[in-house]
Amino acid sequence: MADSLSVAQGREYLAIPGPSVIPGRVLQAMHRPSPNIYEGPLHSLTDSLIPDLRRVARTRHHVAIYICNGHGAWEAALSNVLAPGDKVLVPATGRFGHGWADVAAGLGAEVALIEFGKSSPMDMERIAETLRADRGHEIKAVLAVHVDTSSSVRNDIDALRAVLDDLGHPALLMADCIASLGCDRFEMDDWGVDVMVTASQKGLMVPPGLGFVFFNDKAAARRAELSCVSRYWDWVPRANPQEFYQYFGGTAPTHHLYGLRAALDMINEEGLEHVWARHARLANAIWAACETWGEHNGPLRMNIADPAHRSHAVTALRLETGQGTALRAWLADHLGLTLGIGLGMAAPDDPARHRFFRLGHMGHVNGQMILGLLGGIETGMRALGIAHGTGGVQAAAAVIAGR
Ligand SMILES: *Cc1c(COP(=O)(O)O)cnc(C)c1O
Repeated sequence: MADSLSVAQGREYLAIPGPSVIPGRVLQAMHRPSPNIYEGPLHSLTDSLIPDLRRVARTRHHVAIYICNGHGAWEAALSNVLAPGDKVLVPATGRFGHGWADVAAGLGAEVALIEFGKSSPMDMERIAETLRADRGHEIKAVLAVHVDTSSSVRNDIDALRAVLDDLGHPALLMADCIASLGCDRFEMDDWGVDVMVTASQKGLMVPPGLGFVFFNDKAAARRAELSCVSRYWDWVPRANPQEFYQYFGGTAPTHHLYGLRAALDMINEEGLEHVWARHARLANAIWAACETWGEHNGPLRMNIADPAHRSHAVTALRLETGQGTALRAWLADHLGLTLGIGLGMAAPDDPARHRFFRLGHMGHVNGQMILGLLGGIETGMRALGIAHGTGGVQAAAAVIAGR
């Protein structure tokens, strides 16, 4: 049937919010025989990553690298600052806030969670109330997700620091930048973040497998007070290795290191400020298209209503029942375009979950990819008879063209 011809052959675009698109340069850097881990170029290459990682995190402080995914980085960070029974505060704005809280609970922490729902940023006043009530300073850390990838909300970490400072509360400020680092502006030192966790497979454009924990001297002092720390997660030898193997607590993630070297070179060459500006421009183009499609009774809605609180790396969207899943399937089958599933918006057995989907636009993405993504979505809605305002792609083109 001519009208259902698939035109999926060709280069695919995996537009899910992680793992992100891996640049050819990163893949090529990884395509090599195993290097010697005992001496030689791998050692100097690894040393060279540290200042560049600091630069991307905007910190002068320490970084420990782990062979793990984001969940591992969560656990690594908490293992260095919490003793069982310590209290932590988690202002949750989506699935990933709950996930980090759960990891803290697994380590024996007492978790106080403030629920901000699935489509709103943190309300600093409510957080301040809780911290103000904590007169004995029992809360040892605030676990804040910068961009929650499930809701695509971006939280104001700088404002959270101001809340702690205004109250003179000594809790550590810990930030999850797994979805935001290398996409949205993040200033670890200027914003007074004590511990930041991230991972390789999103804005850093490397396959999943590396987790990073950045920490300042205040966090290091907390670590020094703990009577015991898991040997494997301990950040002390990793951040200050006397022997090469201590960087990784064992065998180095050899190929990932070559990939990361190439990715950091790309970020340095483009300039971090430009990387942020590129993500912002492309996100604005996506929002302009979505806004237009939602006009004239089109059912498409962005999950985060206020652009000021939207991530530049991921966009969570909803249609009507069934349409989100149908659109994802059509695009994968017919165009070679894969969108992300909705996450944490409805229970797995609730048919409403088929309304939700997400667009990943993090890392190695440019204008033609985003225009292809948006043209694809518009085509899919047309093919499936999903009502939408016309002119979405033109609206995006206007943002990218700047006129
Ligand atoms: C992806 C992500 C995680 C989890 O990372 P995994 O590598 O899947 O363990 C945690 N937090 C945020 C904000 C993320 O985007």
